Amino acid sequence: MPSTQQVAIVTGGSRGIGRAIVTRLAAQGAAICVNYTAQPQPADSLVKELRAKGATAIAVRADVSSPAEVQSLIAQAEAQLGPPTILVNNAGISSPATLETYDEAALDRMRRVNVNGVINTIRAIMDGMKTRGYGRIVNIASNAAIGTALPGTTFYAATKAEVLILTRRFAMELGRAGITVNAVCPGWIVTDMVRRNTTEAEFADRVTGMRERTMVGRVGAPEDIAAAVAFLASPEAGFTTAQVLTVDGGRMDYIGHG
Ligand code: NAP
Repeated sequence: MPSTQQVAIVTGGSRGIGRAIVTRLAAQGAAICVNYTAQPQPADSLVKELRAKGATAIAVRADVSSPAEVQSLIAQAEAQLGPPTILVNNAGISSPATLETYDEAALDRMRRVNVNGVINTIRAIMDGMKTRGYGRIVNIASNAAIGTALPGTTFYAATKAEVLILTRRFAMELGRAGITVNAVCPGWIVTDMVRRNTTEAEFADRVTGMRERTMVGRVGAPEDIAAAVAFLASPEAGFTTAQVLTVDGGRMDYIGHG
């Protein structure tokens, strides 16, 4: 039973890929809850921008790694916007490391945000969606999860691989209740995440290198991911579940012998 008023919660919706997803879903008429955790300013300015265009939007701070904060996030969204129909689990962090530079605390934090965050939001939202018999859940994983060969992404890749198996298992648990669960695996997308700790010159070199690794000959934009999410979040996608949609421009540097 598709709801006529779509209500979307986008975790980490204030910047980067999340911001593009928010903008796209709002343009399609959804009321939006923009979640963030550390920086209120980008979330507030996005909400202002959306409202100026006539959209309904709120910003809610919550660390997705905290079950209590996530409960409160879902409750605030529902109280102010109505029952959520769409959940996009986009919030994620990346701490580059190799076997040599492995840092247990950094991996633990990545797991709590990238993996537990997905579990926390879905557990908090599922009862309402089950009662209403409708829901669209999209988890943002990464093409690292399916074996890209970019150095330094090993442990991040492991957390995102967990997101893929959880996507399939949760789809199996929730499908009979009218809830679909799918994943999108972005390739290299220009956001703060990939700009961090690089000079302009180093960044330009990385763009050139990453462009050469794709079949389409360019790096990704957040809007490339938003387009894929928009399909999976739509009422028309009700027969599509437990799927992983890779949106990486046709990356050619995958680890072989899988
Ligand atoms: P980004 O530019 O670093 O933005 C991250 C967003 O997540 C921000 O809104 C941030 O809010 C929020 N966030 C971080 N930790 C959070 C937490 N614990 N609770 C709630 N919100 C949190 O990242 P991005 O590049 O857009 O990445 C978005 C997603 O795509 C991530 O899951 C990432 O792993 C995945 N991805 C990205 C790429 C890429 O190339 N960029 C490739 C593959 C997959 P604050 O501003 O408040 O910190």
